[in-house]
Amino acid sequence: MKRILVSGGAGFLGSHLCEQLILQGNEVICIDNYFTGNKDNILHLRDYDKFELVRHDVTNPFMAEVEEIYHLACPASPIHYQFNPLKTLKTSFLGTMNMMGLAKRVKARILIASTSEVYGDPQVHPQREDYWGNVNPIGPRACYDEGKRVAESLAVNYMHQHGVDIRIMRIFNTYGPKMHPEDGRVVSNFINQALNGQNITVYGEGNQTRSFCYVSDLIEGMMKLMATNKYQGPVNLGNSDEFTILELANMVVDMTDSSSQIIFEPLPQDDPMQRRPDLTKAKQLLNWSPKIKLADGLSKTIEYFKGLYQ
Ligand code: NAD
Ligand code: UDP
Repeated sequence: MKRILVSGGAGFLGSHLCEQLILQGNEVICIDNYFTGNKDNILHLRDYDKFELVRHDVTNPFMAEVEEIYHLACPASPIHYQFNPLKTLKTSFLGTMNMMGLAKRVKARILIASTSEVYGDPQVHPQREDYWGNVNPIGPRACYDEGKRVAESLAVNYMHQHGVDIRIMRIFNTYGPKMHPEDGRVVSNFINQALNGQNITVYGEGNQTRSFCYVSDLIEGMMKLMATNKYQGPVNLGNSDEFTILELANMVVDMTDSSSQIIFEPLPQDDPMQRRPDLTKAKQLLNWSPKIKLADGLSKTIEYFKGLYQ
């Protein structure tokens, strides 16, 4: 049993993580400013003595005696991270600096949630951890992409200068229950549009690709990465089954028996055209691979969103 801090614990991934950590008997302190997270996501954990919820913005320092820190606090969907780009940059830089400072003071192991967005619109496919990426530093996604790149840089420099025990996880598109229905990400958008009889909004021609990981696989990989003593560099976590966005739209329409029409809208600026993780490192290091196929994960996610509308 450990005492563990989870920043961003009321969000999509954070709430699933808090649940697993509590079920394993750990003491969990969840901090969140509720920008994109929601108390409902973790309401069921408040009955556990070992769960503590604190409203806190990570751009300010936080003190707690903990042995591990999962630093997830940051809006993740393009509409949310572009809503207040300077705040996203502050959260990425100051938030990570504050969490690193805490890890240094209390000698905690810290895992930071980085992203496949550090590869930008990649010219190498699939993406391996040693690819440096193709990011536009002044485009609309830069507040997030560059924010996460500087977060990685902060982490490695806290490791080199102060011996902080870091783990860096580069998360590829993950989906599942507890995604915010209106956070604008493609899986939640398509399912909610299909369930509500609205047009399915495919951006561009829909031939851009993504590789979708179901949340339970991701959380398992994340906890294995925290537990490993073998490696402190970045590790890709995701699913390597690659789909076009149009394929995803058709799958969602079929699986929901929806009468929604697929319509095409302009592709947002700097939208990456292809994305698929090379998962060799995660397999070798963590003995981990994702298990849930897209159709199975979508089916569970559709059931979750149906439940919201009953
Ligand atoms: P989310 O938006 O559901 O969760 C983020 C949480 O952080 C929310 O609860 C939000 O309220 C909180 N937060 C935001 N700014 C904060 C601040 N300044 N102080 C305190 N709390 C703050 O997103 P998610 O999908 O759960 O993503 C979690 C982490 O994983 C993020 O760091 C994200 O960048 C990373 N990530 C997620 C994905 C994905 O596909 N889900 C992909 C790549 C990276
Ligand atoms: N997308 C889309 N329709 C939507 C939402 C997203 O076609 O309603 C596309 C988007 O342009 C991108 C892909 O789906 O190419 C994944 O978008 P998301 O915002 O989920 O994640 P990210 O771009 O960060 O991978």
